[in-house]
Amino acid sequence: MTDRRIPESMQAMVLERTGRDLVLSEVPVPEPGPTQVLVEVGACGVCRTDRHIIDGELPDPALPLILGHQIVGRAVATGSAVDVAIGSRVGIPWLGHTDGTCRHCLRGRENLCVAPEFTGYTVDGGFAQYAVADARFCFPIPDVYDDAHAAPLLCAGLIGYRTYRKCGDEVDRLGIYGFGAAAHIVCQIAVHDGKEVFAFTRPGDSAAQEFAAGLGATWVGGSDESPPEKLDAAMVFAPAGPLMVSALRNVDRGGIVVSGGIHMSDIPSFPYADLWEERTLTSVANLTRDDGVGLLELAPEVPVRTSVEVYPLEDANLAIAGLVSGETQGAAVLVPQRR
Ligand SMILES: [Zn+2]
Ligand SMILES: [Zn+2]
Repeated sequence: MTDRRIPESMQAMVLERTGRDLVLSEVPVPEPGPTQVLVEVGACGVCRTDRHIIDGELPDPALPLILGHQIVGRAVATGSAVDVAIGSRVGIPWLGHTDGTCRHCLRGRENLCVAPEFTGYTVDGGFAQYAVADARFCFPIPDVYDDAHAAPLLCAGLIGYRTYRKCGDEVDRLGIYGFGAAAHIVCQIAVHDGKEVFAFTRPGDSAAQEFAAGLGATWVGGSDESPPEKLDAAMVFAPAGPLMVSALRNVDRGGIVVSGGIHMSDIPSFPYADLWEERTLTSVANLTRDDGVGLLELAPEVPVRTSVEVYPLEDANLAIAGLVSGETQGAAVLVPQRR
């Protein structure tokens, strides 16, 4: 099925070589394969992982590459095996494909698939006017969100949600290190669930601390501070290894520290006494489709309100810089011009 108005070429922000800025380019509109959907991109979120890919910190990106893995768009064409209505709204996340046959997929842990594809990394993503994706890995988007406000749910929200669930059910006092896009979403879910949230920001970042307090955090402070009480769990969203050790020292016996990032600086060594008494130090990787369904059902119930800064597509480099410097409160989203 095809919508007749699809042009032959489109604008995209392209990573030609790692270590370079993205370049505004005119490239062919991709054609959907049998299991794929072609969407006209309404909005695409920017993620710290995009910075890691640009900087060459993740191996073997599919250059030249269109980044972007938090895509909201409308289906304009579909492959023969796809049951998505033309015109319907589709969310495209980081997990673009799995083999479905490896031991991890068979155990329901497709996030750990040994032969995955990732949107905006091993296959082209959504920093463009159009994008294709395997329809089996896409999600319907709740009506209450417009494109720009839905986009951050697709990585910041999903990874935040998986990190939050990894903390377990026995959590009353929850620490969050790094109060960016993921934290601002998961903080609302945690408060909704009756948790006390302790938000740790860059030391002296009063704007981020006010932002966290406004979203219901019980306590806010710098990442060099200790909370007034020991935490049951802590989530680390900033890519700084030393924070894992700080967080570990601030969790109570039996507590857990979970990193939500795909890349992090080295974790310094620490005394075994900090891990002793059944403390856990772990990470989450990627997402499963169950995570997506769960979050997109839960978000309108909470309701999660995403805070977004909208940039035109051609300002992708600026948007990424704002995210990394901490200037952006909440999430940064690119909105391409309609053709
Ligand atoms: Zn991401
Ligand atoms: Zn697999």
